Amino acid sequence: MNRFALASARTIAEAGAAASTTVAHAMTVAPEAMEQGDTAIVKASGIDLIDLLKEGLLKPAKIISLSKVPGLDQVAEENDGSLKIGPMMTLAALADHPLVRQRYPALADALRGSASPQIRNVATVGGNLLQRPRCWYFRSQAYRCLRKGGGHCFAISGENQYHGIFNNMPCAIVHPSTAATVLVALGATIELSGPDGAARRILLENFFVLPDRDLQRENDLQPREILTAIRLPKPAANLRMAHLKQGEKDSFDWPLADVAVVLDLDSGVCKRASIVLGAAAPAPHRAKAAEAAIVGQRIDENVAAAAARAALTGATPLSKNGYKLPLFEALVRRAIVKAAA
Ligand SMILES: Cc1cc2nc3c(=O)[nH]c(=O)nc-3n(C[C@H](O)[C@H](O)[C@H](O)COP(=O)(O)OP(=O)(O)OC[C@H]3O[C@@H](n4cnc5c(N)ncnc54)[C@H](O)[C@@H]3O)c2cc1C
Ligand code: SF4
Repeated sequence: MNRFALASARTIAEAGAAASTTVAHAMTVAPEAMEQGDTAIVKASGIDLIDLLKEGLLKPAKIISLSKVPGLDQVAEENDGSLKIGPMMTLAALADHPLVRQRYPALADALRGSASPQIRNVATVGGNLLQRPRCWYFRSQAYRCLRKGGGHCFAISGENQYHGIFNNMPCAIVHPSTAATVLVALGATIELSGPDGAARRILLENFFVLPDRDLQRENDLQPREILTAIRLPKPAANLRMAHLKQGEKDSFDWPLADVAVVLDLDSGVCKRASIVLGAAAPAPHRAKAAEAAIVGQRIDENVAAAAARAALTGATPLSKNGYKLPLFEALVRRAIVKAAA
């Protein structure tokens, strides 16, 4: 790990002014070149950041902590019934929040099923959405792959068992955030504050960036921008939801596959559906064919099974991750049945 200066910002504006770039932008230059410059990046709890530093993938001159910026670790109900979540809320605190448990149980389940208790007690939801991918070639200093500004994807022709089955060319990462799977299904928006103090609001689904648009970043965070809030719309009276995941082990680890299903039901008939697959693609993947297959239908086992088959539309598995197809099919079917029950 390189030596770096650590500073605490007291306001969002101070953090934005002190940060010179995003981690994704910083990592497109070789770590040695980064060390020569004056790269300054922001830190939430540092779980992902310290990992990158320890691997020698990131060598910033300065780290700016957000932990002393007041108000970023709170949840507030707005006048319109929506929920405003501060990005510095820990995964554990958010999972236990009464309004989250009562109104968005699928989000509470996804948060409780992420990582380990120790990590959930410090990791923040903002950092979780912005963490970098887990591809083992990306995480190793030995491989300068496409996403780090190199010329080759080692996973597509190599060890790709944990990689994506959708939108997986020319880079096959899966998005690492489990919370994002549910937040996208719930129609979350996020708020960002820019260097000039200008705020922007964007649908979380549209914030993520696929490799065909930009290979070297997973989202549209701009240099000096600070994520200031995540907003969840007030749930409709008949909204039903479920989140299911399958991992290699239950104790802790990123899922091999996870699914969020949000259904708006009218006397058992589905008026609106949102079905999102996690650990499937470089961004949370909306299974639009599956959504179309259940809208207007009374949900039963057969309808759920047909939608689950449709969820695989467009899948292009790699040499070693074909096992994800039956896994996702089973999870989507079970999540639809669970949500509708
Ligand atoms: C063993 C293990 C198992 C795990 N399992 C899971 C899992 O199952 N599911 C899952 O989703 N995750 C999992 N994780 C990942 C973990 O949840 C994330 O690393 C963590 O949530 C990141 O949050 P942080 O607060 O530590 O972010 P940091 O590491 O501090 O920051 C992450 C990134 O976000 C940027 N950033 C943070 N906050 C802001 C902000 N407000 N504005 C602008 N930029 C910001 C930082 O610059 C950095 O690039 C696991 C981690 C470990 C170690
Ligand atoms: S999948 Fe993406 S991150 Fe992994 S080796 Fe290929 S280009 Fe790099």
